[in-house]
Amino acid sequence: MSAAPEVDAVVVGAGPNGLAAAVVLARAGLRVEVVERADTIGGGARTQEATLPGFRHDICSAVHPMALASGFFRRFQLDRRIELTVPEISYAHPLDGGRAGIAYRDLDRTADGLGADGAAWARLLRGLVETEPRMAKFTMRELVRVPDDPVTLARFGLAALSQSGPWWNAGFSGDEAPAMLAGVMAHAIRPMPSLSTSAAGLVLAVHAHARGWPVPTGGSQSIVDAMADDVLAHGGTITTGVDVTSIDELPRARATIFDTSARALADIAGSRLPDRYERALRRFRYGNAAAKVDFALSGPVPWANDEARRSPTLHLGGTRAEIASGEHDVASGRHARTPYVLVAQAGVVDGTRAPDGQQALWAYTHVPRGSTVDQTETVIAGIERFAPGFRDTILATNSRTAVDLEAHDPNYIGGDIAAGAPSVWQLAARPTLSTEPWRTPTPGLYLCSSSTPPGPSVHGLGGAYAARSALKHEFGIDRLPYLGVDS
Ligand SMILES: Cc1cc2nc3c(=O)[nH]c(=O)nc-3n(C[C@H](O)[C@H](O)[C@H](O)COP(=O)(O)OP(=O)(O)OC[C@H]3O[C@@H](n4cnc5c(N)ncnc54)[C@H](O)[C@@H]3O)c2cc1C
Repeated sequence: MSAAPEVDAVVVGAGPNGLAAAVVLARAGLRVEVVERADTIGGGARTQEATLPGFRHDICSAVHPMALASGFFRRFQLDRRIELTVPEISYAHPLDGGRAGIAYRDLDRTADGLGADGAAWARLLRGLVETEPRMAKFTMRELVRVPDDPVTLARFGLAALSQSGPWWNAGFSGDEAPAMLAGVMAHAIRPMPSLSTSAAGLVLAVHAHARGWPVPTGGSQSIVDAMADDVLAHGGTITTGVDVTSIDELPRARATIFDTSARALADIAGSRLPDRYERALRRFRYGNAAAKVDFALSGPVPWANDEARRSPTLHLGGTRAEIASGEHDVASGRHARTPYVLVAQAGVVDGTRAPDGQQALWAYTHVPRGSTVDQTETVIAGIERFAPGFRDTILATNSRTAVDLEAHDPNYIGGDIAAGAPSVWQLAARPTLSTEPWRTPTPGLYLCSSSTPPGPSVHGLGGAYAARSALKHEFGIDRLPYLGVDS
């Protein structure tokens, strides 16, 4: 006879997905214990002083379009728990000569700014922006299911196809609009044009005009702190500084949910998993990587373009052809000569990040997985190209190479910030092909990290779906509990 469980559920990892799972389970009245390897909670949503005292840097995630679109965070009423500023400009894409493509929250204003290409921009995005909740229904769930809204799926599929091959420039005559699309597609860290980059880019482009790209006051940490507070308020416990290496170290529980990479699940729980499933976890492929640089600045970045100065998020790297070439280099295992650089200047909407008049700047570039190359100079050059004089504003820097990012959070294998390459196949088979991919074949064992659907980003949905599955199969509970603010 097996020993009685010590708790109802254990969650390994206090990232956004692990905490989302813990929120759902604790709200269902279960005894939940969360264990986290790092000394602080939050995984890829931690905010820390990384350069100088008083400068608060988001170490990983910084801008949160997917949190705003997430059904879990809507039920959790995240907007009532923390301050999320939705900026007027979702992202800017500077080009040489002081030009820039500006993605305003307002689609029409964006199209107006794109001159001759405005009509093509609006044609590509308007239908999806207007039906965004329907689009999010399938882009933010598992892909292995019968579509319940074939019209929206077809609209999304056609738009994605139009940007997925050598024909992607048809319909555009200027530089700005194609560069802006390349800028959002590059988030996938994959060669482009391709269906996976096109789909990922479209989702971000649609959210830019639908709900916006919000910045949390105080940094991403405020999101995970709100979740942790909720777990504790509903009787859960969270213990940090516990690096789980074997499932035998964990308390006995009816459900054990892993907010780890697929590979770590195989390492920790392999002895309890069927061989075939363990082999599938080990076959799960990781993608290329990010290398991060944080800056403490004496003042705002002197962007040549005035609107760029107001945008919390910027995509750098130049024209669409230049960005595609940089991503091709990375996909070929090389450090790009003109790499894509993603910049977040949260300070334009959040005054809490740095001492008065100064700025905490967040940036990363793409590198081959496992890179140990410090990208500080590359990122500075990438910013200087569109903001001459930037170098003179730098007070201090803090660089994290791709391998440093894995040391910060082992889910980012080799610096792969998606915890598994977001290829079309691996978005469907994440980590294996299943209608319930969070549930392993071993009763009571679940995976909830971004190695499961709907994949990377801070949305908490992997955690919420895994918890829903565990509630049903381990506890016979079919309904999600109320997750909103206790009044
Ligand atoms: C540089 C960078 C920039 C990013 N930018 C954005 C952005 O702007 N917007 C956005 O939405 N997303 C962004 N992301 C992605 C986002 O951070 C992740 O998709 C998200 O954090 C995934 O959440 P998760 O809970 O699945 O995993 P994680 O956030 O990685 O959390 C996993 C947790 O599990 C813990 N853990 C792992 N193994 C063990 C173990 N064996 N024992 C105990 N604990 C363990 C880890 O320490 C960690 O705390 C970025 C990521 C990086 C790295």
